[in-house]
Amino acid sequence: MSKKNGTDASHIVEKNQIVEVTIDDIGNDGEGIGKYNGYTLFIKDAVAGDVVRAKVLKTKKAFGFAKVEEIISPSPYRVTPRCDLAAKCGGCQIQQISYEKQLAYKQQKVYNCFKRIGGFENPELEPIVGMDEPYHYRNKSQFPVGADRDGKPVLGFYAGRTHTIIDTSHCYIGDTLNAFMIKTVKEFLAKYGVKPYNEETHTGLVRHILTRVGATTGEVMVCVIINGNDLPHKEELVEALKDLSMADDKYHLTSVCLNVNTEKTNVILGKKVIPVYGETYITDYIGDIKYQISPLSFFQVNPVQTKKLYDLALEYADLHGNETVWDLYCGIGTISLFLAKQAKQVCGVEIVPEAIEDAKHNAMLNQIENAEFFVGAAEEVMPQKYAESNDSLRADVIVVDPPRKGCEESLLDTIIKMNPARVVYVSCDPATLARDARYLCDRGYEVKRIRPVDQFPHSVHVETVCLLERSKA
Ligand code: SAH
Repeated sequence: MSKKNGTDASHIVEKNQIVEVTIDDIGNDGEGIGKYNGYTLFIKDAVAGDVVRAKVLKTKKAFGFAKVEEIISPSPYRVTPRCDLAAKCGGCQIQQISYEKQLAYKQQKVYNCFKRIGGFENPELEPIVGMDEPYHYRNKSQFPVGADRDGKPVLGFYAGRTHTIIDTSHCYIGDTLNAFMIKTVKEFLAKYGVKPYNEETHTGLVRHILTRVGATTGEVMVCVIINGNDLPHKEELVEALKDLSMADDKYHLTSVCLNVNTEKTNVILGKKVIPVYGETYITDYIGDIKYQISPLSFFQVNPVQTKKLYDLALEYADLHGNETVWDLYCGIGTISLFLAKQAKQVCGVEIVPEAIEDAKHNAMLNQIENAEFFVGAAEEVMPQKYAESNDSLRADVIVVDPPRKGCEESLLDTIIKMNPARVVYVSCDPATLARDARYLCDRGYEVKRIRPVDQFPHSVHVETVCLLERSKA
């Protein structure tokens, strides 16, 4: 209410004041939301349904921020997180909420976006696709490397919203093999005196470790990201990593590589990859399609849910074998190859050249001959291709799977001109999905189906598949 009339309600509470609040909602970052005398407080680590005593940290005109001092009565949705570090670590935001409630929260989040941002009157959502066993699902992990006060290497995960490294080898969403890999790299650094990177002074060598595991093939890649051009004693690291099969015989080491990142930046990966052992990629399957995945390429992190996500996208695309399909933001051709098996022709567009190399290779690997791939920004490639075709370029189905910022209007305009019967929108941010769906719906399309898929249990993120159809009129 204060928001609407613009009045300043911040006087209702003061910084450091202790207030009792009933939490009635979950915010975008997983924090609890409750009101104190009508004033909205976002309260870290509170769960919808809790009654808490909270300390006010910051006040703004319409809302403030607080943290839990004491839980007076716990929410029925509150559970003890499996991970002791869940509250501190930036990897999970809502492990303290029961998985069922997490799913309900994500479903509601997508609904709210369609209603509030998209302006859809009564958005009808199909029930969110959850996981049976929502732990240890990630096939890719990135561990920051640093040093403690005594200069000893620390490896683990960033604490929430900071670059402080929590020194741990356990993670309940990462693969169980990570414990071995973290321990091995840490021992290697200590044994050979290889210096961890210091991001403040931009000195030291080892910045991050990236691991990828093939859930089906058991292939494992370890990529060491370095502030330099070489890693001393790398052969010894390879030998030590080879023992990973002893930690878990499901896995075998197939790739060790270096990635050079000498920039002063938060971006983890640099552009150059140097092979050290084996190939510079791993292979894995989704369904019966085999993929080659290199360190710089995007690949969905949750293989179990990815299969469900792609099956859904394929179902929404409703292909019968005669269609021309465009798969925009195609990555390594993951969705494209699924589509190609059921369509006449598939064209993929992706901005990362290495991913397109993988995509072309993956088509060959699977003897798929009706898929073609183009490098470039979708919002540039598509208008250009449309213009080159003298406005005759058409598609039966267009699939888009953009990053969180969604699609540019220039791309959406081209999609409309290409006049596909169906647009299948795969999204990792329901806010931009709802915005783009509204744009298409104002220009001749209708939302037919919406279904969230939980690709990221214990985080606030949610994937959504949405089917838009060209209106009959
Ligand atoms: N459909 C793929 C990839 C989805 S992730 C899959 O499911 O695996 C989004 C992809 O969009 C990433 O590969 C990213 O590199 C790519 N991308 C980001 N901005 C882009 C742009 N403007 N044009 C084309 N691709 C882009």
